[in-house]
Amino acid sequence: RGGAPEREIPFTKPGSLTRIYAVASGKGGVGKSSVTANLAAAMAADGVSVGLVDADIYGHSIPRMFGVAGSQPTVVERMIMPVPAHGVKLISTEMFKPDRDIPVAWRGPMLHRALQQFLTDVYWGDLDVLLLDLPPGTGDVAISLAQLLPNAEILVVTTPQLAAAEVAERAGSIAMQTHQQVAGVIENMSFLPCPHCGPEHRLELFGSGGGQRVADGLSRRLGATVPLLGEIPLDTRLREGGDAGSPLVLGEPDAPASATLREVAKRL
Ligand code: ADP
Repeated sequence: RGGAPEREIPFTKPGSLTRIYAVASGKGGVGKSSVTANLAAAMAADGVSVGLVDADIYGHSIPRMFGVAGSQPTVVERMIMPVPAHGVKLISTEMFKPDRDIPVAWRGPMLHRALQQFLTDVYWGDLDVLLLDLPPGTGDVAISLAQLLPNAEILVVTTPQLAAAEVAERAGSIAMQTHQQVAGVIENMSFLPCPHCGPEHRLELFGSGGGQRVADGLSRRLGATVPLLGEIPLDTRLREGGDAGSPLVLGEPDAPASATLREVAKRL
């Protein structure tokens, strides 16, 4: 920036009241982005001022889930204005790619700078909550984020499958190295309410127990209670809402998955 003074990260200033949650998973496809999008939308619908950074650089899906894929932020007085969608202020790595169709091949230092810029050069205003959708696994972004936002708490998303739980626990345990707190575990795709016999019959397509196992494992490793915050059922409407740019919690507020997501959002 040609010698311009470094801007401070507003969320790490003493007295900042913004709660920060970095949403992590062990692997892709467990619904991390869907859960993050719905938590953000549920918070905004409750009047919470919420910002969302889509830092899932290779799998950025947040803009589509909010119906603003391809949107570009405007710049006002050298500050980047986040894109508003369903009451949430959004910034995504997608918005800074020269060409949407070319895969991003950013290396560590570039990623770090991009994240830093999202935190310092974006006009967030006063936020109650800042959510960050991390890439899956324990990569450069998680480490950069811990350096830039040591006060961010980690939320771990997993499926009930034990193999998924193992890698999710590894992703969550990065908090030990970075001295961050783990706010809790969210189990997604927990069960399919049986379409024939009724919702009390749960089809456990991916097994059961993964979320609790991650919560217990992280509690042990960190020596602090890590709660299992919710078990979100499978629901085709959740995927459809994501594809259509209308988060489930807004479009289908009565769906059981919506109720669980709203409860989790209230606890954060
Ligand atoms: P990740 O961010 O972990 O890679 P996504 O949020 O992109 O995962 O979800 C992967 C796919 O699974 C998407 O097509 C999404 O719509 C779908 N999905 C996620 N959670 C659920 C759910 N509870 N019920 C049905 N489909 C889901």
